[in-house]
Amino acid sequence: MTDQLVEFSNENGCPKCGSESVSPVRYTWWGGLLGPKILNHTKCQACNYTYNSKTRKSNTAGIVIYFVVFVGLAGLVFYFLRKS
Ligand SMILES: [Zn+2]
Repeated sequence: MTDQLVEFSNENGCPKCGSESVSPVRYTWWGGLLGPKILNHTKCQACNYTYNSKTRKSNTAGIVIYFVVFVGLAGLVFYFLRKS
């Protein structure tokens, strides 16, 4: 019963420390304005932990994928611009 209550009260809080003072990240160095929106990037104000508010897990893998895709697309655009 206690476990259920803790889980419920943490539903909208930080998955790491349980603090409810979390807020969506609007801008990041790796994703600009779009990246954090796509990944539901959220930051805990208490422990500075950042995570995906939908999966409640770390966004590290998502950030790497986003970054690789973004750099890959930028490289493709650059390649075709140079070619033409
Ligand atoms: Zn936290």
